[in-house]
Amino acid sequence: MSDDDGDAVEPVLRVEGLETHYDSTEGFLDRLLGRSRRVRAVDGVDFDLRAGETLGVVGESGCGKTTLARSVLGLVEPTAGSVYHRGEDLTALSSAELRDRRKDLQYVFQDPLSSLNPRLTAGGIVGEPLDVHGLAAGAERDERVRELLETVGLKPNHAARYPHEFSGGQRQRLGIARALAVDPEVIVCDEPVSALDASVQAQILNLLSDLQAEFGLAYVFIAHDLRVIEHVSDRVAVMYLGEFVERGPTETVFEPPYHPYTEALLSAIPEPDPLWEGDGIRLTGTVPSPVDPPSGCRFHTRCPRLVPSAEYDLSGETWRSLTDLKLRAREADGVTSLTAARTSREGDGSPVDGGALDPADAIDPAGPTGPTEASRETFDALVREEFGLPDPLSDPDAEAAVAEAIDALRDDRIGEAAELLDAAFVSPCERRHPTEYDVGADHGIACLRYDGEFDEEAGTFADGSEPAGSAE
Ligand code: SF4
Repeated sequence: MSDDDGDAVEPVLRVEGLETHYDSTEGFLDRLLGRSRRVRAVDGVDFDLRAGETLGVVGESGCGKTTLARSVLGLVEPTAGSVYHRGEDLTALSSAELRDRRKDLQYVFQDPLSSLNPRLTAGGIVGEPLDVHGLAAGAERDERVRELLETVGLKPNHAARYPHEFSGGQRQRLGIARALAVDPEVIVCDEPVSALDASVQAQILNLLSDLQAEFGLAYVFIAHDLRVIEHVSDRVAVMYLGEFVERGPTETVFEPPYHPYTEALLSAIPEPDPLWEGDGIRLTGTVPSPVDPPSGCRFHTRCPRLVPSAEYDLSGETWRSLTDLKLRAREADGVTSLTAARTSREGDGSPVDGGALDPADAIDPAGPTGPTEASRETFDALVREEFGLPDPLSDPDAEAAVAEAIDALRDDRIGEAAELLDAAFVSPCERRHPTEYDVGADHGIACLRYDGEFDEEAGTFADGSEPAGSAE
């Protein structure tokens, strides 16, 4: 997807190839031993923002949204890439120039209490940017402060109160008034309503919408709540592990075709119906670390629609189960730790329903025999049950490979089992980093399933060739 498809207007903000990596090495010993932990919080993000529009950025906690917001405004220094405001690269400005430019680019924080100076009154907080940028003084300043408080729905006499004397919603209004004081073009709103009650959330969202209409503001709106994003955004970017995986106008992102991650997020939105029991798509595994992101598509360790290799005749579901077994075997330090997969499918530690086997048969090292002393047949059944693997697999070659790996597991040769599975079962999604494919007007999805070479009917890259895209 091109950022400027069909758009002749210069965006107020353009972000190109933005990367923010930081060192999270902990303690003296790590440094002494040269154990560096480089967090790739933002890893190659592009977008543009036009005057008066809202770009919603959504993703789970820890996906890099806040680092992105802070990098765009220069509050943290990006590692690479550029942020252009009205065509000028902010990353090339000196700190003094950047401070001056902040008049045009403001930030609204998630937690107004911690972002507002507790020693200043509301009048001081809202008036401070006027002083810093020399925009008003004396009676004119006081009048402007009163006007700003009224603009955000507070009263002029609130100017004498301190932050702790306001409710959460009022404090957020104060944060917005402070941002508005310098007459900005762009406001980056970082989870501005996530700490508020639902009714107050609606009031703040309506206020932001009214201010946008009145002053022509452009917003980058960061949130983890898809309903909020749908409500406020003209365009949406879905972020996963430091990257945008889907972008487009709101109405197209909330309709098929979806990125599998977007689809899973959407399916997890609870319905208002109290009898609704949920039909959410379960994401297997846990969110990987941004220190060492997965190869290929970063979502492959959890993706419900992982592309099977054309080498075998296996369903997508079986391929997902095989990959879960493979990933678990890679991390396991003993047969019993394979069972951790059972409690992590929803990523929240909640247990996954058992199947036909009695729970008493679960792999139990404290049992009378222990896992490696169970019969070959029982052990095989337990592993297949644990990972939802058919017995036998529909493809004889795949069945032979998995049976050999199960034998190794039973002998407690975990490393060997992991190597066998690693060699036998590799999805194209593990090999190739997907680029963003056009799927509609101004709508792009970074998923190999939208590569022109992908055969949707067969569910694979039918000729067995590697899909297009850069290797990672
Ligand atoms: S590339 Fe593969 S793993 Fe990534 S989202 Fe698409 S189907 Fe899933």
